[in-house]
Amino acid sequence: METTDVFANSSVVDLKVKLENASNIVLTGHRSPDGDAIGSCLALWNHLKESGIHSSVVMPDEFPNFLNWMPGQDEIVLHSSSPNQAEGLLLTADILFCLDYNASSRVGEMQSVLESSNAFKVMIDHHQQPDDFVDLMISDEKSCSTSEMIYRLLEIWGEHGNISANTASCLYCGIMTDSGSFRFPSVTPRTHKITASLLETGIDHSSIHTKVYDNNREGQLKLVGYAITEKLQVFPKYKTAIISLSANELNRFGYEKGDTEGLVNRALSVEGVNFAAFLNESGDRVKISFRSVGKFS
Ligand code: MN
Repeated sequence: METTDVFANSSVVDLKVKLENASNIVLTGHRSPDGDAIGSCLALWNHLKESGIHSSVVMPDEFPNFLNWMPGQDEIVLHSSSPNQAEGLLLTADILFCLDYNASSRVGEMQSVLESSNAFKVMIDHHQQPDDFVDLMISDEKSCSTSEMIYRLLEIWGEHGNISANTASCLYCGIMTDSGSFRFPSVTPRTHKITASLLETGIDHSSIHTKVYDNNREGQLKLVGYAITEKLQVFPKYKTAIISLSANELNRFGYEKGDTEGLVNRALSVEGVNFAAFLNESGDRVKISFRSVGKFS
């Protein structure tokens, strides 16, 4: 069996020295950032800050409200609302992290500025088939989350013993959300060992679950109810289920970003279904999320 450890690489170890000597470190995540994108960026941001290293987090656009408790979230610069500030940071960065995405197109409107930045670019990501647009690629598609990979980065640097509760809560949130609360096949014994050491920092894991999963607005819950009752289409012959929502339908329920998170998994949970799609209209585009189970890729 081939066992390659993407972290067992001298450039990964040397990265710490590079960071200590850098003057402008920028951490970025993908468009429509999720718990893992925000979690991995803020975990590294918190850890660097505690090590006396200043960095900035820049996101293409807003993150969902259920993440607005995360330590450092109020310091995040959004390109969608402060484009000049965000682009200034990207262009003057000497080290730029690309966390939780595998292609420069995943940062949406920030793509051209990201590509033209002369910074030393570091990808840390777990999506398949990464594009080679960076100077240092740390890619592990077997990892359940980028947050798990950030822990392994701190481990390689010998710093996993002094992870703070703030950093740990960001990593826990990223691992929890990207692993479907520790249920996906990507979860390994290592995931649980890492999670155990995060709990040892004293974080309140139960309250993280509550903050992320039990904070529905009335309109949000009714939107999910409507989507399942009125818009779920099942095609048994094709083992397929689809949910679609138009902009009008979303507006009826006072849609906010993140409200339809996980809806595609509800479609996939229909007995016998192994492929599900969720389509939603957003501005001038239709976003489609696909999920499958078993051998169907
Ligand atoms: Mn992820």
